[in-house]
Amino acid sequence: MPDRVVIAHLFPEALNLYGDIGNIVTLARRATWRGIEAEIRDVGAGDATRLAGADVIFIGGGADQHQRAVADALLALADPLRRAIDDGAALLAVCAGYQNLGHAFRSPLVGEIPGPGLLDVETEMPTGAERFVGGIALEVDAGSPIALGDAEGRRRIVGFENHSGRTALGPTMRPLGRVLIGRGNDGASGFEGAIALPGEGGLTGLRIGTYLHGPLLPRNPHLADFVLASGLGRGGPVALAPLPDDAEWAAHDRFADDWTAIRPGVYRRSSIGRLRDRLGALIGF
Ligand code: GLN
Repeated sequence: MPDRVVIAHLFPEALNLYGDIGNIVTLARRATWRGIEAEIRDVGAGDATRLAGADVIFIGGGADQHQRAVADALLALADPLRRAIDDGAALLAVCAGYQNLGHAFRSPLVGEIPGPGLLDVETEMPTGAERFVGGIALEVDAGSPIALGDAEGRRRIVGFENHSGRTALGPTMRPLGRVLIGRGNDGASGFEGAIALPGEGGLTGLRIGTYLHGPLLPRNPHLADFVLASGLGRGGPVALAPLPDDAEWAAHDRFADDWTAIRPGVYRRSSIGRLRDRLGALIGF
């Protein structure tokens, strides 16, 4: 078992709109609680050398303008990122990061942003598109290593989504899960996120993209451990010592219960909310 984990946080200042730093804190704490020393490296423009030796790579969410602001620097890091993942680093990309790491992101606000294609996805934000905002719950397959790695085989992942982009998956990735509550990748397919398991799609490391933004990992300990274990194992996950996660699972259940109570089934935005979205899109907010 490695005694150290290196967590690379891509563009932490531009892409931390929703407290994505909570995911970094969770990964680091879950490592140190097990006696594994955690090093957190912020990675910005031109920081290619800081990616060498990374075990986990994280990129968070932001508005379209933030995505435009980091786009060139991200493309310039494409090769070192690919090398780090092919060395076995696990990648977790959230929201704007999910969109930016794909092949392309097209938005009426900032135009087309070409991406490094580290995730086999493409995102389109249609003009005046309904914004998907609210609690989201999804379920991974029973055979998913995320569920298999959990002592009780828990398959649900919960979080909050806030996006207008519609993401389509290419042939080398599969959905992270099936939507139970909320909208997911496109509001129509019933799927959320994208995953390539270690070794799939020609790269050694795990890759996950998801719309569940902000502090996703604190209330999904099975997902946090799967990312950590895959990065530490440089591909195939190592077996991590169990942690007492009662508080984390209570937060997970409470979140799911709250959102089920608010809006059973599919969450829909009110007509006033949709009007506000359209006005927002027009004035570039
Ligand atoms: N451009 C994104 C959108 O679809 C931003 C997503 C996010 O990070 N919340 O709205």
